[in-house]
Amino acid sequence: MTTNGKLTLEKLSFGVGDRFGRQAEAQLRACMMAANHGVPIVPVWNKSNREHAIIGSEPKNVRSAADAAIANLGWKTGYHVDADHIRLETVDRFIAHSDFYTIDVADSIGKAADSKSISDFARRHSELAGRLEIAGIAEPFQTTRTDIERIAGKYLLAIQEAEQIYRHIVKAKGEGHFITEISMDETDVPQTPVELLVILAAIADTGIPIQTIAPKFTGRFNKGVDYSGDVARFEKEFNDDLAVIRFAVQAYQLPGNLKLSVHSGSDKFSIYGPIRRALERFNAGLHIKTAGTTWLEEVIGLAESGGAGLALAREIYANAYDHMTELCAPYATVIDIDPGKLPSKETVNGWTSEQFVAALRHDPKNKAYNPHLRQLIHVGYKIAAKMGRRYLDALKANESYVSKNVTENLYERHLKPLFVRNGAA
Ligand SMILES: [Zn+2]
Repeated sequence: MTTNGKLTLEKLSFGVGDRFGRQAEAQLRACMMAANHGVPIVPVWNKSNREHAIIGSEPKNVRSAADAAIANLGWKTGYHVDADHIRLETVDRFIAHSDFYTIDVADSIGKAADSKSISDFARRHSELAGRLEIAGIAEPFQTTRTDIERIAGKYLLAIQEAEQIYRHIVKAKGEGHFITEISMDETDVPQTPVELLVILAAIADTGIPIQTIAPKFTGRFNKGVDYSGDVARFEKEFNDDLAVIRFAVQAYQLPGNLKLSVHSGSDKFSIYGPIRRALERFNAGLHIKTAGTTWLEEVIGLAESGGAGLALAREIYANAYDHMTELCAPYATVIDIDPGKLPSKETVNGWTSEQFVAALRHDPKNKAYNPHLRQLIHVGYKIAAKMGRRYLDALKANESYVSKNVTENLYERHLKPLFVRNGAA
């Protein structure tokens, strides 16, 4: 939507990824179901440079698939196209096609900015040192100037880089014509709420009108499977982050709709309840990215359809099994596969539709569900990309099975527990 001539991200937004660009309508239908329950959720189609490179797709393909779905289904609530995890060297080819930019500066975290900008920052923000009371956080923050300099030393360079990328996009698109997210999730150590506050103060100094921020949270956010970590600790941190954002918006005049963005947010069923409670408590918005889960539903739909679709699903597994090391490499920090828990290719070749679907579908109550197999197939989309036409034709031939699984997964297992009242949280 547009507020005072500026493109503004809606309160609840849902990042959907569509590896092969065939599920935009099925994804949009999940948002329509939520709308029918009185909850407006705006879809954001996101794809990173890494995904484009692996699949051989172009940013314009994401835009055209999204536009077509919006037109075909008559969606009027708004939507966006996110250039996901871009950097200065990769942003240009997204410029014509995206109205949302996720500026990824995680690689620069921990690299020190020049000492003058660090001490200038600490001097300018003397309010950050000492005892800081923030509404919604039980224990006031207690910091020293040295702490602030240490935190600034860790993040200031990354923020300077974000500013450079932001200015580059402004030059091409003009101010207010796009949504800016800054992501810091693809790094080793989570950011504490105090760090988040310092980061937001520094971002405010740059003038970047940041609308979403993606910190790294405590615990593991492995691709396509449930959260792994201390749920109570996550819940406290998430609540504190929301309190910090509310505080920083006021203190530093950041955009009023600034909200958290949860990356690798699909399938994190055990934290959806805590997230939902926290959002209600703060009346806060959320952006959550769920890119990889849709590709898995394509494979589930193919397996469920039986016959040639099932054969293709088995073939994808066999190939992924053979190329495990290569497929897992780019995702090493966000998967946890125990090869000893993977079924052999021969076993899977003997599976029925029911057996394949039971192993792959994310139903924690089903004893046959296998998160190791699920993660392997998650990173295995390169195999399908290599199949090219053959894979796309199979999707088309089995479109009713595939789209039903895509929609149901996003609505029943994601949107409903997160945002729709009476959902099973
Ligand atoms: Zn991410």
